[in-house]
Amino acid sequence: MKRDQVIFDLISKEENRQRRGIELIASENFVSKQVMEAAGTVLTNKYAEGLPGKRYYGGCEVVDEIEQIAIDRAKQLFGATWANVQPHSGAQANAAVFLACLNPGDAILGFDLSHGGHLTHGSPVNFSGKLYQPHFYGVEEETGVIDYDKVEAKALAVKPKMIICGASAYSRDWDYERLRDIADQVGALLLADISHPSGLIARGLLNDPLDHCHIVTTTTHKTLRGPRGGLILMRDDFDNPFGLKTPKGELRKMSSLLDSGVFPGTQGGPLEHIIAAKAVAFEEALSDDYMAYILQVKKNAAVMAQTFVSLGYQIISGGTDNHLMLIDLRNKDLTGKLAEETLGKVDITINKNMVPFDTRSPFVTSGMRVGSAAVTTRGLKEEDMKKIVHLIDKALHNHADDSVLASIKKEVNDWMIQFPLY
Ligand code: PLP
Repeated sequence: MKRDQVIFDLISKEENRQRRGIELIASENFVSKQVMEAAGTVLTNKYAEGLPGKRYYGGCEVVDEIEQIAIDRAKQLFGATWANVQPHSGAQANAAVFLACLNPGDAILGFDLSHGGHLTHGSPVNFSGKLYQPHFYGVEEETGVIDYDKVEAKALAVKPKMIICGASAYSRDWDYERLRDIADQVGALLLADISHPSGLIARGLLNDPLDHCHIVTTTTHKTLRGPRGGLILMRDDFDNPFGLKTPKGELRKMSSLLDSGVFPGTQGGPLEHIIAAKAVAFEEALSDDYMAYILQVKKNAAVMAQTFVSLGYQIISGGTDNHLMLIDLRNKDLTGKLAEETLGKVDITINKNMVPFDTRSPFVTSGMRVGSAAVTTRGLKEEDMKKIVHLIDKALHNHADDSVLASIKKEVNDWMIQFPLY
């Protein structure tokens, strides 16, 4: 068959874009060569509905071994006793948990999307807000931090069946112990979606949600630096609290409910090539090299935040405990949209983001979100973070001056091609 040059040329073009730019999107990273290799293999040809040893298709001996290794490594990495590595994405992992634990119409309590939460935590445009009855908690306007007394009051008022913690744009650590206490008071399950900081959590750099939360979900492609995908974990299995039974009338364990929440609940055949790549990434995340990497991610984010503050930028909550920060641009008289477009012109990639209590639309926004996971993989250190923030500041100040922007772009490109990428 003729090689599809159209697509392969575009892939080269994208590789070149990634190589010459500064990648600050907090949810992105660069996987290792071996993770990428595992993802592009013959495993994509294989159907394997079911779980290792319990499949609905023949010829699964090899993928059984691969998937079991992925499960075992995920358990080891997070100190879990149960894992499902099949979710195609973070959204799919959350969908599987909701399907397993809730009935349509049940009340749920999640972190507000406009304060940094995720669509799958109850947004009205997502299945989670359409099928369930969503309620939200958020941050305080003055501090940018969650007030757990207010979360408790809200939970007591709305009596959710599930409380969801975790976020896409919250730079502070979470008090999982307090949240579990709140969940226990109202008889709710506590789900932590650690998609963003999962790499920091795996290596002990943030509070451990598995100590307190019934169920934990994560993507595998952000700080964890694996292929795009999802993962569900539990420290301990337990009898489901809402009395869901098997067709034979037996009470089902939560692990069994979650497995069927993934398949057949919300997915068909698992992506065994991606599961193989997840297994490789989990092994990498257990290594000393990854430990050095993830420590550097945290240090780089801290320096980035300090530098932004020193230049008069307002960071929601005043700083960061993890790999990301949300910057309120209102005092700079800029919108998130203008910032994203301007930085795009100099090959610095960020995303516009709503800030808490934003009055602008999600297409414009008053903020931008940046993170250190990807640039740290490129090999950048603290001094480089200062340089990046000064380049951002210069570009934003000169957003209407194309010649200044062109010279910043050249500086970015000349600088970044010195850092290897594949
Ligand atoms: N949960 C959180 C907290 C996220 O930040 C994201 C992605 O940004 C997701 C879930 C969804 O992950 P995916 O894009 O893989 O569906």
